[in-house]
Amino acid sequence: MVPYDAVVVGLGAFGSAALYHLAKAGLKVLGIERHHPVGHALGSSHGASRIIRLAYFEGLQYGPLLKRSYRLFQELEEELAERRPAGHGGEPGPSGPLFLRTGMLDVGNVFEAAHKSAVAHGLQHEVLTGAELNRRFPAFRVPEHWRALYQPDGGVLTPERIVQAHVALAQQLGAEVATGEAVTSWRAEGRSAGAPVTLTTAAAATTSATVAASGGRVVSAGAVVLSPGPWIGQMVPELRELCVPERQVVGWFEVEAPSRRHFAPDRMPVWVLEEEGPGGEAFYGFPEHGELPGLKIGLYHHLREQIRNPADLDAVRRTADAADEAALRRGVSGYFPAAASGRLLHASACFFTNTPDGHFLIDRHPAHPQVILCSACSGHGFKMSSGIGQLIARMVCEGEGTTVTHALPAAGGMPTSARAPPRSGRAATAEDAVSGGADSGWEELVPFRFDAAGRPGHAEALQRFG
Ligand SMILES: Cc1cc2nc3c(=O)[nH]c(=O)nc-3n(C[C@H](O)[C@H](O)[C@H](O)COP(=O)(O)OP(=O)(O)OC[C@H]3O[C@@H](n4cnc5c(N)ncnc54)[C@H](O)[C@@H]3O)c2cc1C
Repeated sequence: MVPYDAVVVGLGAFGSAALYHLAKAGLKVLGIERHHPVGHALGSSHGASRIIRLAYFEGLQYGPLLKRSYRLFQELEEELAERRPAGHGGEPGPSGPLFLRTGMLDVGNVFEAAHKSAVAHGLQHEVLTGAELNRRFPAFRVPEHWRALYQPDGGVLTPERIVQAHVALAQQLGAEVATGEAVTSWRAEGRSAGAPVTLTTAAAATTSATVAASGGRVVSAGAVVLSPGPWIGQMVPELRELCVPERQVVGWFEVEAPSRRHFAPDRMPVWVLEEEGPGGEAFYGFPEHGELPGLKIGLYHHLREQIRNPADLDAVRRTADAADEAALRRGVSGYFPAAASGRLLHASACFFTNTPDGHFLIDRHPAHPQVILCSACSGHGFKMSSGIGQLIARMVCEGEGTTVTHALPAAGGMPTSARAPPRSGRAATAEDAVSGGADSGWEELVPFRFDAAGRPGHAEALQRFG
């Protein structure tokens, strides 16, 4: 019998959520994170805010997962308030709201696809012209003929707090957590589908955390979740060309005093704005809120700085330079006149990990089904991390040949739907997925697996594993 049912490698957005759902399902689980504390600013899950929205221009297939994730974040917030877990490694326990509802605007080029998604999934929404948007939300100044979708359910998630909440609650449920420890290698013991997986770890040089006394160890588990974010290419070299990290910078720009009220969360929704016309850029941003003042703005794919060699990830520059500021300022001065001449107050660098088709990679390792791969999320995955964590836990528990032995708890663990995967029968509806009704939603939640059909990028990756 292996010591752990499952080990999760990397406790960012996805690993922390997977750890929580695995612990909730009653599994003996260990989470290993290279940095300390969890919720650090060296990966992809920091920067004080992430957009959550339900109408999704990126694809209709995300609808059920988005609704499930939205509900799970609300439940997480309630659970955190009720159970008040201690923090990890002597850190204060996470507290405070995890979600702030502001509404969401999909402006310009993204309107059509977002609107289609809102209609297809029966979501509350309004269609605005640019002129109407400018009148109703005076922080904005967009061309009057553009169109925008307003979805009242959009808002801001607090990423560091959510990661910490998932980890702290998982620990309360019995999960073990090691920070300041890096997994240096892994291997499945033999080729059988049920073979245990062995991981070797070392003390991580970049942290002051308390580490296993030996400075490293060997652990084994029936299943392993590899969720190291941009470092996935280090752990699974076959994925290097499929999951490519990219440096991103977001900035907070000073807003002139008389207009600040227009940038408050009750007056300014979160937004994505893709410029119309050829060569248009896509910006996204947030109202002023929380501890950092200013209009927060990002530019999708920023300066297009791809990091193809994982060894270079730790050397990526973390501060913003003039080119970073200029890229962000184009969006500020183009559409937010009251911030156009404001100073850059703060900036934060982070990683997207992109697939060629811009979708996610969540699947079993083709040669070792007991190893679940979760990365990349192509710069738009945080809002689905709660649902993806639950999905990963389900994949582990389904355990195609893994040595996971724990039965799912009869109550209080995974939803009923998790216990009996719907392999046939009627297609689950979006409402089923939201309510977590019996046998609902899971098939729809797995459109992100390695699937040679119809996904050029993923097919290429499969060949590499071959
Ligand atoms: C600037 C920016 C803005 C974004 N905006 C949004 C948004 O508005 N909405 C949205 O939904 N999404 C957004 N995203 C995307 C989203 O934040 C990411 O998809 C998500 O946070 C990725 O999480 P992750 O767990 O894959 O990676 P990470 O958060 O990087 O976590 C991976 C973890 O693994 C650890 N690790 C790596 N290697 C090892 C090892 N060998 N051993 C142990 N631990 C290891 C790392 O230290 C890290 O903590 C944004 C991303 C960025 C960068």
